[in-house]
Amino acid sequence: MLTGKHLIAGEWLGGKDSFMSSPAKGDAHRFSVGTPADVDAAVQAAERDFPAYSALPREMRAQFLEEIAAQIDARGDAITAHGTAETGLPEARLIGERGRTTGQLRLFASHIRKDMYLDLRRDAPLPDRTPLPRPDIRLIQQPIGPVAVFGASNFPLAFSVMGGDSASALAAGCPVVVKGHSAHPATSEIVAQAVLAAIEKLGLPAGVFSLVQGGRRDVGEALVQHPLICAVGFTGSLVGGRALFNLCAARPNPIPFFGELGSVNPMFILPAALSARAEAIAKGWAASLTMGAGQFCTNPGIGVVIDGPHVDGFSSSLTAALEPVSAQTMLTDGIADAYRAGAARMKHAGAKPVLERPEQGRRASPYLYQVTGAEWLANPHLAEEVFGPLALLIRVRNAGEMAQIAHGLQGQLTCTLHLDAGDMAQAQTLMPVLSRKAGRVLANGFPTGVEVCDAMVHGGPYPASTNFGATSVGTLSIRRWLRPVSYQNMPPELLPEALHSL
Ligand code: NAP
Repeated sequence: MLTGKHLIAGEWLGGKDSFMSSPAKGDAHRFSVGTPADVDAAVQAAERDFPAYSALPREMRAQFLEEIAAQIDARGDAITAHGTAETGLPEARLIGERGRTTGQLRLFASHIRKDMYLDLRRDAPLPDRTPLPRPDIRLIQQPIGPVAVFGASNFPLAFSVMGGDSASALAAGCPVVVKGHSAHPATSEIVAQAVLAAIEKLGLPAGVFSLVQGGRRDVGEALVQHPLICAVGFTGSLVGGRALFNLCAARPNPIPFFGELGSVNPMFILPAALSARAEAIAKGWAASLTMGAGQFCTNPGIGVVIDGPHVDGFSSSLTAALEPVSAQTMLTDGIADAYRAGAARMKHAGAKPVLERPEQGRRASPYLYQVTGAEWLANPHLAEEVFGPLALLIRVRNAGEMAQIAHGLQGQLTCTLHLDAGDMAQAQTLMPVLSRKAGRVLANGFPTGVEVCDAMVHGGPYPASTNFGATSVGTLSIRRWLRPVSYQNMPPELLPEALHSL
C-alpha cells in the first residue's frame, strides 16, 4: 500500500502540493512534493537522535542493517512490481539489484562487527623522553552526524533510498535523510516502509532515517544547505552534482560533498590483443555498452585503437554486435532526450556515424561513432559523457598518440586495457597515466558490474567524483562518514570503549 507521503522520523506526512509519478508502464501515483520545511523536520530529528544512535553498540547497528535487508526481501514482490513499472528496467534486473542491495547491507553488518574500520591507533606515552615527555595518544574514527543522500535514477535500489550511501552511513553510526528521486517514488516509499519496520522492530530512535520525496529543486538545495547536515552522498549528473557541490562549498560551514558524476570509462585496445581477438573484444564491448540501455556510470563509452590492418574488421564486428540490439526503454523521458541530444552533440563535434538508429520517446538504440586521435584531441566535447548506449571509437596513428589520448582524459571511474603478452611494453607506459586518471584500472575485462567488496574503488578524479580520496561502493565507502579523533592523556572512563584495550 502506498501512502504517497514522506517518511519523517517515523511519521508518514503529506503536504499540500503533489506530483504524479511518470512510470514507463502501469498506473501513475500521486506523491507529496517535498519542501524545505519537510527537510528541516527530518534533519532536526536526525540531529536529535544522532547521539543515541551513534552510541549504540556496533552489534546493534549490525542487527539493524540485517533487519532492513530482511524487511526489503519481505517486500520483494512489491519492490519488483513498482520498480519495473517506474523505471522500465526488466524484472530480472530489479531482482538482481535487490540482491545487491541487501547483500550490501549484510556486508556492512559484518564489516562493523570487526573493528578494523575504526583504524584504532595508539602512540604509547614516553614519560622519560627529553626534552619533553610524550603523552598517551589514541585515535579512533568517529561518526560525523546526519548525512544527506540523493537517490540515483539509474539504480532504483542499490544507489537509492537504502543503497550503498545510506547503508554505509547507517553502519558508520550516522542518521540518514534521503531525498528520493522523482523517477521512482513508489519504489522509494516501499523501501522506506522496510526501514521503518526495522526501526520499529528493534526499538531504535525514529530520527535515524527519513525519506523526503522530490518534485521540486528546493528540496535538494535545502537539504545540502541545512546547517545540521554534515556530509552528502550523491550519484547523478555532472551539472546537478556540480550545482549541489557548489552549494556545499559556499555554506558558512562547508561540508564534504561525495558526488559520483560522469565518466566515459575508456578502453585501450592494444595491437596484439586486437589482432588475436578483435571479434571477442567487439562482442564484449557491445554487451557491456548496451546492458541496461547503457545507463551505468561505468558504461564503456570510448575505445581507443591504433589504426592498422585489424581495425576495419574490429569496427565491423562491433557494428554487427550492436545492430541486432533492440531499442530499450530508458529510465525517464528526460534521460532519453539527453541521450539524443548527446548523440547530436557528438556529431556536431565531428564524430562520424558508423551506426545510428534514432528512436522516439523514452526508447534508445545503440549508436557507434568514430574519430581520429587528432580530432579527439582537438575537440574537448568528444570527451564528454553521453549517458546511454553510445560508443565512440578513436583511431589513433601510433602508440605515442594513444598515450596522448590517455594524458588528455578527464578523471574517470575506470580505465581498461585489453592486452596480450606482446602488448606489455606499451601497457607499462600507459599504466602510470591510467592509474592517475581512474579509480579502477582493469585488464582484459569490461567495467560494468562493479563488485561490492573490500578492495573496490568506485570513484576517481573529477569529474568522475568530487572527492578523489573516496569510493561510493565497497566497505571503504564507510570512511566518508567518519572522522578521526585523537584522545590525549584521556582517563579510561572518558575514552571510547574500543580504545580501552590498545
Ligand atoms: P540529476 O539531474 O543530476 O539529478 C540527481 C538528483 O539531484 C535528483 O534528485 C535531482 O532532483 C537533484 N538535483 C539535480 N540538480 C539539482 C539542482 N541544481 N539543485 C537541487 N537538486 C538538484 O541526475 P538524474 O536525474 O539521475 O539523471 C539526469 C542525467 O544524469 C542523465 O541524463 C545522466 O547524464 C546523468 N546520470 C549520471 C549517472 C552516473 O552514474 N554518472 C547516473 C545517473 C544519471 P530533481 O529530481 O528534483 O531534479
